[in-house]
Amino acid sequence: MPDPIKVLFLAAEAEPFIKVGGLADVAGSLPRALRAITTQAMHGTKLDVRLVLPLHRAIHIESKTLRRVAEFSVYRRGGALPVQVFEMLQGGMPVYFINGDLIAAAPSVYSTNLEADRDKYAFFSLAALELTRSLDWTPDLIHANDWHTALALYALHSRRTDPKLMRIRTLLTVHNLPYTGGDGKDVLSAYGLMPLQDSILPKWAQNQPLPLGLWSADAIVPVSPTYGREILTPEFGCGLETFLKSRSGSITGILNGLDNQIWNPDTDQALAVRFNADMLPARKTNKTALQKNLGLDEKPIPLLAIIGRIDEQKGIDITFETLRQMEDLDWQFVILGSGDAVLEGAARSLQTFYPDRVRTILRFDDQLSRRIYAGADMFLMSSRYEPCGLAQMIAMRYGCVPVVHATGGLRDTVKDGKTGFLFSKADPGSMLEALRRAFDVYNNPDKWQRFQRDCMKEDFSWSRPARQYAMLYRALAAVTDGGEP
Ligand code: ADP
Repeated sequence: MPDPIKVLFLAAEAEPFIKVGGLADVAGSLPRALRAITTQAMHGTKLDVRLVLPLHRAIHIESKTLRRVAEFSVYRRGGALPVQVFEMLQGGMPVYFINGDLIAAAPSVYSTNLEADRDKYAFFSLAALELTRSLDWTPDLIHANDWHTALALYALHSRRTDPKLMRIRTLLTVHNLPYTGGDGKDVLSAYGLMPLQDSILPKWAQNQPLPLGLWSADAIVPVSPTYGREILTPEFGCGLETFLKSRSGSITGILNGLDNQIWNPDTDQALAVRFNADMLPARKTNKTALQKNLGLDEKPIPLLAIIGRIDEQKGIDITFETLRQMEDLDWQFVILGSGDAVLEGAARSLQTFYPDRVRTILRFDDQLSRRIYAGADMFLMSSRYEPCGLAQMIAMRYGCVPVVHATGGLRDTVKDGKTGFLFSKADPGSMLEALRRAFDVYNNPDKWQRFQRDCMKEDFSWSRPARQYAMLYRALAAVTDGGEP
């Protein structure tokens, strides 16, 4: 067993450097949680996890904290693309930032131009792999996340003859299976990667980044146990279910955790009043402040909320339709998010239709999100599918009771009738039934506070999931070492 076990953790985004969605929460907190695991819990082995990110244009770090550690080239269509790698220490953890023209020229972390994104992330993935040859530190494991970094694993698989790379084991965490990276014929040929010749993957998937990464990975981690089972079915498997079933022995669902220091209502500076599970009445001040801030009447009626990417996946159209069917009830609703233009339009129309009840805020706003988690009564997630979902966990930590579709990680984190309300189908009828149950409990303040307290007492920290990852690392590293996993 190598000691320490060295892990290079690849992601497109990570807090506190850059955030678009939940991947940034995970990549920003899991590597640090892994490094904090005690040697004792690891049966005597230590973990040396290091993070690699693209140096996106929107990342601003003081130049004096960055140290240039490597310069090399990645070959693309016969030419050499220069790569610069910078290192900074974040609480003792090395973080590597990869820069190059394709990264510097990109307007955002993800764009609407998938072809350009694919080129950029293929470049990033290959540069991250090349970095392992430039550093005086060869990882035992590469841990990739989603399609953006999946090609690093495929490229590694095809370069196994290289003595510096041959012993590296691989793990791919799947945060969102339908996002495969699209038809990657262009990037495979541009970066000199051979197309896959293995009919175990369906033909259409044989040149797509995520399926190629899944095919190459020694271990596959969907981000919740339920999602891990769902992706083996035609309904959620996106056409990859037969392949995934053939790999089921290498699949382990591990729930994402939360950084309890970043998400803590007792210390959160963004709130009007800080609170904990033993001082719930203080939470009301946050609700009133939020209503005031949003220009809503300061009435004691349920304030419902959504915070998230505005995307077909999140089923916000289902929530909108449900709200329209609840005119007989008193409620207020706030949505904070951005994304799909058509759905954003629908969110705007809802406010136009219910100017006294609805607030639509179409932007990314971390501070406001915290005030909503702390002030709203119910958190709605009518996601059509939800690999894990962090927003409902954050909401619970802030005493905002979730009303959610019983799918993926939502099913694994919300206990129906105790810490929230589950509905079985992603449709307005099913959601309405759950909301009516929630409203009944809301009208009984003692019962409602019990729900809030039970939510706030749940342990969503990384302590258990990080240990599960650590055990997986150990098992993989033991194989590297020639031992039995
Ligand atoms: P996903 O990863 O599918 O985007 P998650 O629920 O796992 O969804 O994570 C979403 C994360 O992004 C949460 O931390 C949530 O608070 C944050 N978030 C999403 N949209 C916004 C927004 N518009 N403003 C602030 N935070 C947001």
